[in-house]
Amino acid sequence: MRLRNIAQRVYKGAQLLFQFDVDLEGGTRSPLRVAGVYAPSAPDLASSSEKPIHLSGRDHALEEKSRNLLRQLGATKLAREVRVEWNPRMKSAAGRADYREKLISLNPLLRDHDLASVSRQSGSDIDRTLRHELAHLLAQFRAGRRRIAPHGVEWREACRALDIADEARCHNLPFATKVYAPRFIYRCPNCRQEFPRVRRIRRVIACLACCRKHNGGDFDPRFRIKLISH
Ligand SMILES: [Zn+2]
Ligand SMILES: [Zn+2]
Repeated sequence: MRLRNIAQRVYKGAQLLFQFDVDLEGGTRSPLRVAGVYAPSAPDLASSSEKPIHLSGRDHALEEKSRNLLRQLGATKLAREVRVEWNPRMKSAAGRADYREKLISLNPLLRDHDLASVSRQSGSDIDRTLRHELAHLLAQFRAGRRRIAPHGVEWREACRALDIADEARCHNLPFATKVYAPRFIYRCPNCRQEFPRVRRIRRVIACLACCRKHNGGDFDPRFRIKLISH
């Protein structure tokens, strides 16, 4: 799978375009990459020769981790019952918690996201999502039969107990799951590098590689990328 990072910066009213590719597995290329965010697509997963270990089904390592966390917090009964699974049918949600079933479902796309963001400081997205969902189970477990709001005070308290005090309420994956094929192909007139885009570019944009090489990194209209097909 190929990861393309696109960073854009505004410079003197014009915009320079900076683009680089990182080849993760030397496999297929998926079409959409947004500003440093990796957007994996389902066909990529399917065509990958090296399948993720837990594409679907129970994850005993994560279950063990969950049990330990819950046990430390005194939720022994919940610790015994909790199950963690990878569910490939999940779409934009990163995770889900079902209290009746004591089941946490995780989106397998999280694995790819982890792969692409190993250098991030915030810890792995899998760990964070797991704790977010555990907080739902723990909050309801502590509340007993009382009805609680999904992301109310009880949940926030459980988040603090699980070391994710700053957790936001959003369950959605931090990347787009809908992948669009780029319709607009731009090209640098100098180095011939192509820049496929989903949308038409409305600003004045030049190839950063060429601006760096020949103009000290300043915007140079000679390297304005041009639309070659749409
Ligand atoms: Zn939630
Ligand atoms: Zn160029």
